[in-house]
Formats: sequence, structure tokens, C-alpha cells
Amino acid sequence: MTTEKEYDVVIVGGGPGGLCAGMYVARARRKVICLEKFTPGGQIAVTGEVEDYPGFEHITGADLGARFESHAKKFGLEIALEEVAEIHCEREDRVVRCESGNVFRGKAVIISTGGSPIKLGVPGEVEYSGKGVSYCAICDGAFFRDKVIAVVGGGDAAVEEAGYLTKYGSRVHVIHRRDSLRAQKIIQQRAFDNPKMEFVWDTVVESINGNGRQVTDLTLRNLKTGQTSKLDIGAIFVYIGFRPNSGLVREGLRKDAGDYILTNDRMETSVPGIFACGDVRAQLVRQVTNAVGDGTTAAVAAEKYIESLEDRHAHRI
Ligand code: NAP
Repeated sequence: MTTEKEYDVVIVGGGPGGLCAGMYVARARRKVICLEKFTPGGQIAVTGEVEDYPGFEHITGADLGARFESHAKKFGLEIALEEVAEIHCEREDRVVRCESGNVFRGKAVIISTGGSPIKLGVPGEVEYSGKGVSYCAICDGAFFRDKVIAVVGGGDAAVEEAGYLTKYGSRVHVIHRRDSLRAQKIIQQRAFDNPKMEFVWDTVVESINGNGRQVTDLTLRNLKTGQTSKLDIGAIFVYIGFRPNSGLVREGLRKDAGDYILTNDRMETSVPGIFACGDVRAQLVRQVTNAVGDGTTAAVAAEKYIESLEDRHAHRI
């Protein structure tokens, strides 16, 4: 049986931005629900270690995500496991329709849907997904104890998660298409100092090969020499960035060339009553700290937006 429920604010996505927005909206005594399709905490819940969230010198992503969740719930945030299919406007209502058939109406909606991993797009990737091809070290790393592991990418995620994977793998090869990393210097230094990590520079993966059941090796190509080589591995983890999950609003939001939602400094999108925060919106930095800051701003701006609707109604009466 499907349901239709009304809220002041509906938050789509339960990562740090969404949960923080939910905490502030609930604390302002508004009726608010956060819809999350996977697990509260979002991307942070599947991040190994976090060391740059103020007040926590060292905490696992799962623990930080769980703390965000319980803190927000303490103030009254409702959380539901729902995959959102579409958001649209019906006069002053913002309507969130879920794959389950359930509908959540809000006076305001906050989109905090983050992004999804970009795929390499090489032969073997789809075939061996879940059989040695993974996009989540914390979910799958432990399956590859004492195996040789490859990680693709040179950003913060690739280098940090490669470090995490050295807990399990006998050796971790970081395959990067250039000869210098994009990752922050402190993350790079730690990786260079890790005796289990090796860097394969100027190189791309041409194909992921296996025996039908499991990945066995990679065909690599050096971009400078054009030479191809084979690397025997037990698993490959792909961290080459992500695409924003920004396609839910029927009316169409203004976005940048990378499909990130454009907002102003109040987190307002081009559609009144729809706000965006965290990794899904266009901005310079994608850290937990600024997702949380965005969530705070979106919550306060949504509250002011609802007050303006209420004022308008009061003057009409
Ligand atoms: P990213 O910063 O966009 O890095 C993606 C990496 O993948 C780059 O090194 C890029 O190479 C490489 N790449 C892209 N397309 C490729 C392809 N088709 N084939 C091979 N390599 C490819 O993405 P991210 O590491 O996922 O990070 C996303 C955001 O989250 C960033 O803003 C990051 O700072 C943040 N983040 C922060 C932390 C932290 O602070 N602890 C942890 C994780 C993520 P080029 O360098 O040549 O472009």
C-alpha cells in the first residue's frame, strides 16, 4: 500500500549535508523527513577514515555518519529508506515521488543527493563488477586479503582509499593517467611513505580481464610510450571521480557544464522552494565540512522561505 504524507520540508539524500539540514529544520520545530535510498551517512558511511572533520582527529566514516544520524534524530528528524524517482512542483507544494509509489509533499525540498562513481568504460568492467571490480573499498576491501589490488585514479578518494586497502592487500598499485597526483599533499605524502603502495604513472587501463568467475589481470597502456603491459591482480577499485545525481526535478534546474546544480549563497536553486546542498551543487570544494555548512544554510533558507509563504497566506486572509 502506498502513502501520501505532508511535511514542511522534505530532504532528498541522507549524507552529511542532508542530515545536517534535517537537524536544523527539526530543531526549528518544523516537520521534516529525510529520504535516503541506501544508508544514512551517504558517501561518508562508505569512507574508511576521516581525519579532517573538526573535533575528530580520527574517526571512521561509518561512525561519523552514524553520529550525524542520531544527532539529527534527537531533534526529531524522520528518516525513511526510499529511492526518489522524481520531484515536481504543484502550485506551492513541492512533490517528491518515490520508486515505492509513496509520495511526500513539502513546502520546501532540499536536494542533497551527492553523486555516483564514474565508470572507467573499458571492456570487462561491467562483466566483472562484483567479481573483483569495485567502487567501494570499505564495502569490498576485506574480500581481497593478501591479494594484489589495483586502484585507478589520482585524486583524494583514490589515494586515500588505496591507503585503506593496504590493510588487506599484499600490494596496492595506484594507476594514474598522469605523472603527478591531484590528491592533497598530506594524503600524497602518506601514500609515498607506505611501503605497500606502488604508483603506475602515465598509465590507463585498457581492459579488465578474468576467467569468467573473477578478475585475474589488467591490460595497461603507458600514455607516453604507447606500450601495453599486463598486471596480475585480485581486484580493481575505481576512483576516478563522480557525477552529480542532479536529474530528479521535472521542471529542470539550472546546472553547470558538469551537471552540478547551480545555487546562490542561500542554497536556492532556480526553482523557488527547491534548495540544494553538498556534493550535488556547483562549488569549488567537496568535503564533509562544506556539505555540513551548505546543509545549515539550506535549512535556514528553507525556513525563511516557508515563513514567507505563511506571511503571504496571513495577508491574503
Ligand atoms: P577527483 O578529485 O575528480 O579525481 C579524479 C581522479 O581520477 C583524477 O586524478 C583524474 O585524473 C582521474 N580520472 C578521471 N577520469 C579518469 C579516467 N577516465 N581514467 C583515468 N583516470 C581518470 O575525484 P575524487 O578523488 O573522487 O574526489 C571528488 C571530490 O571529493 C574532490 O573534491 C575531493 O577533494 C573530495 N574528497 C576529499 C577527500 C578528503 O579530503 N579526505 C576524500 C575523498 C574525496 P587527473 O588528475 O588527470 O584529472
